[in-house]
Amino acid sequence: MFNDTIAAIATAMGEAGIGIVRISGGEAINIADQVFRAKNRKKLADAPGFTVRYGKIVDPQGKVIDEALAVIMRGPHSYTGEDVVELQCHGGVVVMRKTLDVVLALGARLAEPGEFTKRAFLNGRIDLSQAEAVIDIVRSKTDRSLDLAVQQLEGSLSRRIQSFREKLYDLVVQVNAAIDFPEDDIPEIEAEHMQAVLTEVIGEITRLIDTADNGKVLREGIKTVITGKPNVGKSSLLNRLLDENRALVTDIPGTTRDTIEEVLNISGIPFRLVDTAGIRQSADRIEQLGVERALEYVAEADLILHVLDVSRELEEEDMRLLKELADRKRVLVINKIDLPWRWGGKASLVEACLLDPDVPAVEISLLEDSLEPLLECIVSLVMEGLVQIERENAIITRSRHKQALVEARADLEQALETFNQGLPLDLISIGLFGALEHLGEITGETVRDNIIDRIFAQFCIGK
Ligand code: GDP
Repeated sequence: MFNDTIAAIATAMGEAGIGIVRISGGEAINIADQVFRAKNRKKLADAPGFTVRYGKIVDPQGKVIDEALAVIMRGPHSYTGEDVVELQCHGGVVVMRKTLDVVLALGARLAEPGEFTKRAFLNGRIDLSQAEAVIDIVRSKTDRSLDLAVQQLEGSLSRRIQSFREKLYDLVVQVNAAIDFPEDDIPEIEAEHMQAVLTEVIGEITRLIDTADNGKVLREGIKTVITGKPNVGKSSLLNRLLDENRALVTDIPGTTRDTIEEVLNISGIPFRLVDTAGIRQSADRIEQLGVERALEYVAEADLILHVLDVSRELEEEDMRLLKELADRKRVLVINKIDLPWRWGGKASLVEACLLDPDVPAVEISLLEDSLEPLLECIVSLVMEGLVQIERENAIITRSRHKQALVEARADLEQALETFNQGLPLDLISIGLFGALEHLGEITGETVRDNIIDRIFAQFCIGK
């Protein structure tokens, strides 16, 4: 276990109303007592848990650094499960730095990213899927993704996984009793029960796996690309979307630095708008990125906004794109309807067999019209794939979880087949244990240390 005491600045650095230095571990209260002088002159060590004291932060020479509040939470009833003290200072960079320095000088160690949450996990306060939900809450971009993360933190996924594990444990007990005491008077394994439970769990796991695509979309956003020949209005569209719907985020997980991605919040669904071919960039940036690269983005996109210009004749490039994108999830943006039309809009494309009538298309002037009809069209297209989210209470948002479920399912299918073929029970037992192990990876019971380290490394310091 860990017997050292850790500390970090838990709030963002910069000017703010308050800034918090968080200390956790066996020495937390003792260390806090040396930097914090309570106005009532009492020691924090004598305070019960969940107490707030008003006082001053002082350096070892007795010089006052700041006025502050000290919040005392005693283990195991704290975030980490250990004694925790939060020193709430004024939120200035220098004040917080100095306070932290004094705390470190008194024997605390600077916390690694996510170490507070990692301790909560290792102390059994939360399981691994809940710890991951903490990262997701911090990074949520829209109301919907936040809801999902909160549900996961509250244990919606953990409970589902646990229910699978309990059913499988029952089978393991039966199978192993039959293996260990073949001659004893133990009731034969009931074949029907065994098959029924395995089939049921396989079905439930499959349903959970099926939520993964939606979950990932809500966590990471729908990768959206605007395409179309030059001058049709791509950057006009990009700019209007960003001006009217930009989500307040700066950091997107998984974003490579060589592309510009902006996050839009449209009706609570996050859209990651990839600026292909650097629509907003200078000419040399376009050069840098290259046409091939732009095509790659189109290939990877979840949603394509294909812009066409109704004031100019359709050209080879328009036709090529219409054809190339035929199977993709796309919305046609038929732009510049304020100018004289050179072709007849969606109806004429359908008539000329260039477009399936079911493909959503919006005729618009990006210069003059409201974006509302276009946004509605985009949302309803995306929602078609998302509808079941409302009904499922646990949703898979991470590929790590999905992978573990897929492997657990494969083990169970193997076990079921082995059982149906009447092969030795030892073989069935192997499949059951394998599945239990994979399910345990999600909640953290059977996960390897290096994976745990990788997960917590995604956190910010102080969390
Ligand atoms: P891009 O090359 O596809 O990114 O196209 P732009 O967004 O740069 O637009 C090309 C030109 O068309 C610009 O001068 C825009 O102001 C103009 N434009 C864009 N949308 C409309 C529209 O709906 N009506 C009119 N009249 N002009 C537009």
